[in-house]
Amino acid sequence: MKVKCDVCKTEYSLPSAPTGPVRCAVCGNVWNCAPQSRRGMLLMFFAAVCALLAATVFAVAVIVTSRGDNPNKKPLVAVIERVDTITADDGTTKIVVNGMVTNRSEDVYGLPDLIVVLHDANGAPISRQRFMPSATLLDAGQSVRFSHTLSGDMSGAKKVTVELLENTTGGTR
Ligand SMILES: [Zn+2]
Repeated sequence: MKVKCDVCKTEYSLPSAPTGPVRCAVCGNVWNCAPQSRRGMLLMFFAAVCALLAATVFAVAVIVTSRGDNPNKKPLVAVIERVDTITADDGTTKIVVNGMVTNRSEDVYGLPDLIVVLHDANGAPISRQRFMPSATLLDAGQSVRFSHTLSGDMSGAKKVTVELLENTTGGTR
C-alpha cells in the first residue's frame, strides 16, 4: 500500500494498511491514513447489528416476563363498562349494568354466574344479585359482553361492582 505525506509529499510504500497513525520520517507529520470512510461504515454496521441484537433480547425478555405473570392472575376478569338508569312504565327506576368478561388465560373456560353487588355510600355491600351470562364458554383471549337489569329496591345504592362466582375450572362448567 502506498501512502503520501500531506505536508512534504514524501511517498512511502507499506507492506499492509496501517491500523493507526503514521509519522512521516522526513518532516515528522503525523496523520491517520486508514481508510476513514470504510471504517465509519463498518462501525455503523456493527452498531446496527448490536441494536438489532439488543432489540431481539428485549423482545424475548418481554415475552418471558408476561408468560411468567400469567399463573398469578385470575383467568377470567369481569369489568363494568357502563351503568344505565332507566325508568320503567310504572315509574320505578331500574339500573342496567353493562360490562365485559375477558378470558386472559390460554385455556377455554366455562363462564360462571356473575354477581352484581350494590354498595352504599360507605362502600358496604347492601345487595347481591346473581345472574347467568348469555355465553357459556370463553375461548382463550376471548371477551363476552353482559347486560343485566337489576330488580328490587335500589335506593341507597351509590356504587355497583361485579364479581365472578369462584368456581371457575378450565373447560368445565
Ligand atoms: Zn512529511
